[in-house]
Amino acid sequence: MNLILLGAPGAGKGTQAEIICAHLHIPAISTGNMLREAISNGTETGLKAKSFMDSGKLVPDEVVIEILKDRISKDDCKNGFILDGFPRTVPQAEALDTMGVRIDKVIDIEVADEKIMQRLSGRRVCEKCGASYHVDYKPSAKEDACDKCDGRTVQRKDDHPDTIRERLRVYHEQTEPLKGYYEKTGKLVIVEGQEEVKDTTALTLKALEA
Ligand code: ADP
Ligand code: ZN
Repeated sequence: MNLILLGAPGAGKGTQAEIICAHLHIPAISTGNMLREAISNGTETGLKAKSFMDSGKLVPDEVVIEILKDRISKDDCKNGFILDGFPRTVPQAEALDTMGVRIDKVIDIEVADEKIMQRLSGRRVCEKCGASYHVDYKPSAKEDACDKCDGRTVQRKDDHPDTIRERLRVYHEQTEPLKGYYEKTGKLVIVEGQEEVKDTTALTLKALEA
């Protein structure tokens, strides 16, 4: 099964992707994580991506299409995959079509912009293991330290309020048109993001069966 998770930044795509991954035993592929890894490894791709990401802009299509193409050609994708954060533009969706990738379902997680502002501005992530916290909704036991690995929890550069606003603007302008793109193919299923992760998960799993 080849799945796409659509939705604004902070809609909870990553969390749902991990849950579906455990459920269906297919890899969750996050272009955002791959790009952050490239940056911390100082690769050429990382160098190209950094300034776009830090300012809340999208990384150019040809850069992300290339890394995505490489990733889905790996052995572990033979039985399918979950795309989290790709495609984010119509040309990226067209690139999947050109590659001959058949998409079974597109799950769009809808969350209002104000909610996203609250979620992302309070988000903290562990530098070491990537675990995610929220200063109000899901604080770690020790301030600034990860419950799982005791690594330092930090605010992502792009989670500063001005950058979040820019990410949302870019989302509405460039990514939201994908809803129409996939609605036409009959693959789109809309899930209303809930306050509690488990409630969103229940809807996502139902969407998978639909
Ligand atoms: P979020 O969904 O919370 O915005 P991601 O981790 O998915 O976060 O992405 C972080 C950043 O990485 C994006 O703001 C963008 O700059 C870049 N990025 C990730 N995926 C793509 C993509 N498919 N196309 C262009 N840029 C991307
Ligand atoms: Zn950690």
